[in-house]
Amino acid sequence: MVDERADVLILGAGIAGCALAFHLARRSFGSIVVYDPQTPGAGATGRAAGIVTEQLWDPWDVEVARESKEEYAELALHYDPTAYSVNGFARWTKNREAVPILEATVERLRKWSVNASVLDLTSLAEKVPWGRYDGVLGAIWSPDDSVVTPSRMGELYAERAREMGVDFVLGAPLSKFGRVGDHWELTAGVDTARARQAVVAAGAWSKRLLASVGHPLPLAPYRTQAAVLRPSTPDLRLFPSVHDIDLDVYVRPEENGRILAGDGTELAEVDPDRFPTAGDERFVTHLAESFGSRFPGWADAELVRAWAGVCVATPDRRPLIGPVPGADGLFAITGFNGFGVMRAGGAAARLARFLSSGDSSAHELEKIRSVLPERFTGPPTPFPIRPGFTLEAGPDPRF
Ligand SMILES: Cc1cc2nc3c(=O)[nH]c(=O)nc-3n(C[C@H](O)[C@H](O)[C@H](O)COP(=O)(O)OP(=O)(O)OC[C@H]3O[C@@H](n4cnc5c(N)ncnc54)[C@H](O)[C@@H]3O)c2cc1C
Repeated sequence: MVDERADVLILGAGIAGCALAFHLARRSFGSIVVYDPQTPGAGATGRAAGIVTEQLWDPWDVEVARESKEEYAELALHYDPTAYSVNGFARWTKNREAVPILEATVERLRKWSVNASVLDLTSLAEKVPWGRYDGVLGAIWSPDDSVVTPSRMGELYAERAREMGVDFVLGAPLSKFGRVGDHWELTAGVDTARARQAVVAAGAWSKRLLASVGHPLPLAPYRTQAAVLRPSTPDLRLFPSVHDIDLDVYVRPEENGRILAGDGTELAEVDPDRFPTAGDERFVTHLAESFGSRFPGWADAELVRAWAGVCVATPDRRPLIGPVPGADGLFAITGFNGFGVMRAGGAAARLARFLSSGDSSAHELEKIRSVLPERFTGPPTPFPIRPGFTLEAGPDPRF
C-alpha cells in the first residue's frame, strides 16, 4: 500500500483491532486497512494472562465473554489447538464479609445462565492441590471458563483477516492522522490511507490518539504485571485458573508445567510509551509471599520472567465501543479495563455488525448500547482507576 482509498481504517492491531478486521472482512464490508506503528501483540495483547471467564458483573459483559470464548474455541480448533483450553476458574476468600457477596454472585451469575456454583473446600483442594485452604470461608467455581494464548489469538484473527484481503500496515510511526474533507486520513512512513470511517482500537494509546483529533474520551492508561514461574516439581496437568480474592493474586497454567501469575496492578495513570516494562521487585516479592502463605506447593517455584503491560481504564469500568460523539465517521473499541482478551472477539463482532448494518443499524446499536462512548459528555476529567475482578453487579456503586 502506498496511497490507498479504503472503506475503513482500523488504528491498532491488538486483539480488538484484529478481531474487528476479521469480522468486518467476513461480512464483506469492503476494503479494510489495519494500521499499527508496531506489530500485532506489541501492546497489552502480547503481555496478557489470557484468562477468559464469565464471572463478570453485568449481563452484557457475560454475553460478550461467552461469544468471545465460543469464537476462540472455534479458531483454535481449526488453526491452533494449543491456543485455547477449557480449565475452569475458582476464586475464594477468607474474609467473612465477602462470603455473602460471593454467594450472591453465584445467584446472579446463574440468572445470567452462567454455569457457576459454590465450591466446597475438598473439591477445591482436589482441583488445585498446591494451595492451602485452612481458613477459607467461601469459594466459587465456573467450570466452563478457559485460558487462551492472547497473542496467538490476535494472530489467528490477523491471519484470517489477511486471507480475506485486509491490508495491514505495520511498523512505521504515525506521522499524520486526521480529518481531511469528508475522510479520515493517516500517513505512516511512505503509506497514506483514507476512508470515510476510522476505528480507534489502540488500547492504552487510544487516549492520546483521540485527543489528537480533538475528540477526547475519558480513558486512563495504567500498568499491570504478570510473571511466569517454574515449580520445582512441574505438574503437566491442566489445572483451573485461580484467584485469591483477599490477596488479589491469580494463577493460570502455562505450557510445560509452568505457571503464570499476576496481578500487581498500579492505580496510577502512566504513559504507554514510557513505563517500566519489567516486573518490579515489589510485585515479585508480593507473589513470593502469597505463594508462601497460600500456595505452599508453588512456594519454591523459580521465577522465569516478570513483565508489565499497559491496560486502559474508564470511569465506570466498562469499555467504550461505538461512534465517538461529535466525530463524523469515527468509532472506538477500547477501554477494556484489563479484561480485553476475554471480551475482544464478541465486542468486535458486535461493532462489525453495527458498522455494516445499514438500515438495521438501530437494532445493532442496541447490542452495544450500554458501552457507547456517548454515555460520557463534556470534556473528560481525571477519575480513579479501579480495575479488577469485582464481585459486585453492574456499574461500580462508587461512581
Ligand atoms: C499483565 C496483563 C495481564 C492481563 N491479563 C488479562 C486476562 O487474563 N484476561 C483478559 O481478558 N485481559 C487481560 N489483560 C488485558 C488485555 O491484555 C487487554 O485488555 C487487551 O489486550 C486489550 O487489547 P487491545 O487490542 O484493545 O489493545 P492492545 O493489545 O494494547 O493493542 C493496541 C495496539 O495499538 C497500537 N497503537 C499504538 N499507538 C497507535 C496509533 N497511534 N495508531 C494505531 N495503533 C496504535 C499498539 O502498538 C498496539 O499494538 C491483561 C493485561 C496485562 C498487561
